[in-house]
Amino acid sequence: MAYMALYRKWRPDDFSNLVGQEHVSRTLANAIKSGRIGHAYLFSGPRGTGKTSTAKILAKALNCEKGPTIEPCNKCAACQRINSGNSMDVFEIDAASNRGIDEIRDLRETVKFAPVNGRYKIYIIDEVHMLTTEAFNALLKTLEEPPEHVVFIMATTEAHKVPATIQSRCQRYDFKRITVDDIYGRLKKVVDDMNIQASDEALRMIAIKADGGMRDALSLLDQCIALSEQNLTMERVQQLLGLVGREWLDNLVDVLQKRDAAGALNLVGEIIRDGKDLQQVLGELGMHFRGLMIFKAAGLIDGIDYYSQKDDFIKKQASGFTQEQIIWIIKRLHEASSEVKWSPQPRIAVEAALLEICQCDSRMSSVTSNTQVNAAVDDGRIAQLEAKLAHVMGMLRNNNNVNAAASTPTGKIRTATPIKNITKQPVVRADITEDGARIWQKTVDAFKAAGKDQVLACLKNCSFMGINETQFVLGIPAGVIGGLFERLYKAKVEEVFNSVSGMNLQLICQEMTEPPKPKEIPEDIQENIPPPNDDDFGIEDLDEVEKARLDVAIDVFGDGLIHPEDIK
Ligand SMILES: [Zn+2]
Repeated sequence: MAYMALYRKWRPDDFSNLVGQEHVSRTLANAIKSGRIGHAYLFSGPRGTGKTSTAKILAKALNCEKGPTIEPCNKCAACQRINSGNSMDVFEIDAASNRGIDEIRDLRETVKFAPVNGRYKIYIIDEVHMLTTEAFNALLKTLEEPPEHVVFIMATTEAHKVPATIQSRCQRYDFKRITVDDIYGRLKKVVDDMNIQASDEALRMIAIKADGGMRDALSLLDQCIALSEQNLTMERVQQLLGLVGREWLDNLVDVLQKRDAAGALNLVGEIIRDGKDLQQVLGELGMHFRGLMIFKAAGLIDGIDYYSQKDDFIKKQASGFTQEQIIWIIKRLHEASSEVKWSPQPRIAVEAALLEICQCDSRMSSVTSNTQVNAAVDDGRIAQLEAKLAHVMGMLRNNNNVNAAASTPTGKIRTATPIKNITKQPVVRADITEDGARIWQKTVDAFKAAGKDQVLACLKNCSFMGINETQFVLGIPAGVIGGLFERLYKAKVEEVFNSVSGMNLQLICQEMTEPPKPKEIPEDIQENIPPPNDDDFGIEDLDEVEKARLDVAIDVFGDGLIHPEDIK
């Protein structure tokens, strides 16, 4: 008999064999027991986690001659036909290769006819997210009015690409990555069944490398067995998987711990001579430091690393670095990993990263002092602004000059009306939805595109707080800026927001006690905002002294007009 790949031979054939997806098999079994069979199922999850296998088990459960049953017999003609892929009632469509509308049209034609042998006609559509829009639309028509005897089972690794209209008509099951322990258990069963000696460490290594996918794990085991005859050792697996090996990794962590740059470079030279892939080297190093990070945080490391290490050994390694350093090292290794991909000299990227890691003590302290410098700079700016503010307040109190400026003979400057405080309104219920945030960003963009720097400068101090059915809400700072916003810009912002969104919402300004957090300010207006342009106000007509005063005022308050009584 021809050789059958392990992953096919060991494909689960009933719910009890489905490893790591108990939440799915339990729910499906209950549905079958109670006779509540859905018309459409969506199985989503990473590759090799059992979606297609589950679809086939479900097909057998429904069509088994002894069924519907949660334990399909796998012996009757119906079960065997499904197992061998010859059933007239179970159709497998691979959307990745048949993206077209033709297949779905065929499907719509055949769907009407009653099943040939079994109780149900079952359509298994694999990688359903690959269907074209037209094909999805055609499928949707069938899903809207499915014939009694039809069950659709759609499997996908990317559920977010399946249209919501399809998703809403399906019962959705999310398949999880299978844990290292579960994969290990299955591999153990396989090697025992095949009478192959395999060390636990070797099997765990395969289980970790498979990254949650049972199919990958079994394929890897297949390769390893083929090349290592009857005895599967850790060294063999390490070699076959191209792993850098525990010894090298430990040596490297050792020299990094001693901040021994020369030692690290030597070890890189060694691993390159061994012909290891640098991407793999950085990947494993990253995983190893991840292990140290988790050990430091949680005190355990099981199943994280390829190499099962003793706790006290890990503890010793972890003691050479602070938690912050480890996090920084992991980031640096990630960076190096993407540099390696593009660099004509990948070796240099690795060496540079390791040298920087050797200097992590001084780097970390310079990061800290940079933050301190930034904080100092911020303090400096605030102090400057405060000084300017005090200066302007003083001028306003003594000379009452802003009104004079407003009534210059040019008449171009509008007479200032007193600033009102922000209208006190009851707190409005509003949610920050994805749509709302997008429309708000578009509104800001529209002002940016129109060069409305003054509005942008004001918006910088405001915070989008969400929308509801009839209103959208902005958080406005209390005081001068809020008053300016309400008087000068509110109507315009409301108008632009509505024209961008095509809605007709009322802008509600809500007083904020705290300034917006940086992340709430759309990125565009976090950038340097040019000084307000003063064309509208005919400033060129003012004399030098007035101009200077106005400049200072604009610097502090923005470009609106202010009545002195409101500021005292
Ligand atoms: Zn059967």
